[in-house]
Amino acid sequence: MTDVAANVARVRERIAAAARRSGRRAEEVTLVAVTKGVDLPRILAAVTCGVTDFGENRVQEAVPKITASRAQGLRTRWHMVGHLQRNKARAAVQVFEVVHSVDSAALAAALSQRAAASGRVVEALVQVNVAREPQKFGVAPGALLSVLQAMAGLPALRMIGLMTVAPYSDDPQVARTVFRRLRELRDDMARAGATPSLKHLSMGMSDDFEIGVEEGATLVRIGRALFDPAHAL
Ligand SMILES: *Cc1c(COP(=O)(O)O)cnc(C)c1O
Repeated sequence: MTDVAANVARVRERIAAAARRSGRRAEEVTLVAVTKGVDLPRILAAVTCGVTDFGENRVQEAVPKITASRAQGLRTRWHMVGHLQRNKARAAVQVFEVVHSVDSAALAAALSQRAAASGRVVEALVQVNVAREPQKFGVAPGALLSVLQAMAGLPALRMIGLMTVAPYSDDPQVARTVFRRLRELRDDMARAGATPSLKHLSMGMSDDFEIGVEEGATLVRIGRALFDPAHAL
């Protein structure tokens, strides 16, 4: 347990230092603790340290965990960060407050329809495949404007930002270029009047979250640096 507490403290310090380096405030960045493969006691340990936002990448694994955490009366917000199939939209809107991985207008429409049917509003980010990696999900940068326009007006989906996953690389410059590009895309979309407020940038994982913060991330999705003993320090 104490390892989770120490890791949370250390990650928070690193987020704060990266924010300072780039003239930002640490409070602008929300830590989303990604709990795939992590059991409920360790999730509770993170909650005890003040972590409020949690992420999962598979609906099937997430539903029982989120249900159990809510049964404990925990005040947590859950973020879907992995690829979401349209036929899981109904289950997803039952448990997640935020979906980071909207990668098509069709998925957005399905989420809005399912959310509306259960009287909920889901917050959503569009996943962008900035580096155009063939094996990765996400909207191509050139298609982003038209996808956002198709999503405008969906009654039960609130578009709040953009998300990306940096390519795997030993060279930190690769992630930096991708994250900077996501921020520029967000600003381009605002100028094009695509959507009222794409405030959020979800970018940065255990190996590159400081770069994400330096480039403007408001959400960082961190798993191993918090929960994997082999990764810590
Ligand atoms: C697993 C996962 C993360 C967290 O990755 P770590 O390297 O464990 O920090 C973040 N985002 C997505 C989409 C993931 O699937």
